[in-house]
Amino acid sequence: MEKSNRRDFLKKATTATAAAAAVTTIGAPAIVRAAEKIQWKMTTTWPPHFPVLGEGADKLAKLIGDMSGGRLTVQVYGGGELVPPLEAFDAVSQGVVQMGHGAAYYWAGKMPAAQFFAAVPFGMNAQGMNAWIYTGGGQELWDELYAPFNLKPMPAGNTGVQMGGWFNREIKSIDDFKGLKMRIPGLGGKVLAKAGGTAILSAGGEIYTNLERGVIDATEWVGPYNDYKMGFYKVAKYYYYPGWHEPGTVLETFVNKKAFEALPKDLQEIVTTAAMASNLWMLCESETKNNFYLDKMVKEEGVVLKAFPDDVIRKLRGYSAEVLEEVVAKDPMSKKVYESFRKFQKQHQAWGKISEVAYASMAE
Ligand code: CA
Repeated sequence: MEKSNRRDFLKKATTATAAAAAVTTIGAPAIVRAAEKIQWKMTTTWPPHFPVLGEGADKLAKLIGDMSGGRLTVQVYGGGELVPPLEAFDAVSQGVVQMGHGAAYYWAGKMPAAQFFAAVPFGMNAQGMNAWIYTGGGQELWDELYAPFNLKPMPAGNTGVQMGGWFNREIKSIDDFKGLKMRIPGLGGKVLAKAGGTAILSAGGEIYTNLERGVIDATEWVGPYNDYKMGFYKVAKYYYYPGWHEPGTVLETFVNKKAFEALPKDLQEIVTTAAMASNLWMLCESETKNNFYLDKMVKEEGVVLKAFPDDVIRKLRGYSAEVLEEVVAKDPMSKKVYESFRKFQKQHQAWGKISEVAYASMAE
């Protein structure tokens, strides 16, 4: 046996003996295995333990710890606790922390194509987004998009179809969007601008006050459960549906690629599988709570629930197509991603018409 091999052998033998001894000594195993434990940090774009979204990050971290029997633990930090919410991407990219949790459209300034992995106006619902990403080629494109930033992205949650938002005036025609100041981010904001409105950016904590003081006339947020928690029903009368601008928003986790690749294969699978589980959990949590809170707001708080008129939806759909054409024309990667997205969406819709949609129209 060569000297170095012998040294390795002795080291392994000593560890094995120590481990064997430890399992017979109550209270000692944690010390012996301490050297093999990997501790990561996750920074999020949400306030700490924020309902559903932040809870999804907590859930993901807990799953990784539990599934790995404590070999890989993840400490979660809310936005601002470690780094500001919208610096999460850079912090993980640079390896300041190993994981992040947010939504891909927050990074549209760095790479416009990121928006396709979060929400597209008149795009796909949760079922379509999951199918496209997991088994329809979306994940490969997402990996390609984030690789130059040393990141591995994964879906880690979904809000389902969001609500259209809270309005202090009725929307009877597309002209009612003219001069409307609305908090609506991303591609949806660009569509609003085409309809003559003004998209205002407000951080989550400022929206309520802005709506109350008339700085904005309307806001979108998520769905009834999240919106109830934000208290918007106290400062806006009309609650519109559906959320044409965010039909199945994907929440993401992104892992420092070097840190991910340095993990043994089983821990890599645990991270990936825990992300899938938290993706499913968030969608189910929203589905379970949304109608309860919608009912509560309508019955107990006098919220007026309204659907956008058909003609308004038709016009918004037209403006959305224009916005997407503009994004794709300016950026080759957006073109590549959107081609895949659009092809999948057409197939998803065609099948949906004779499966989900057909069934939904028959079910009672
Ligand atoms: Ca939203």
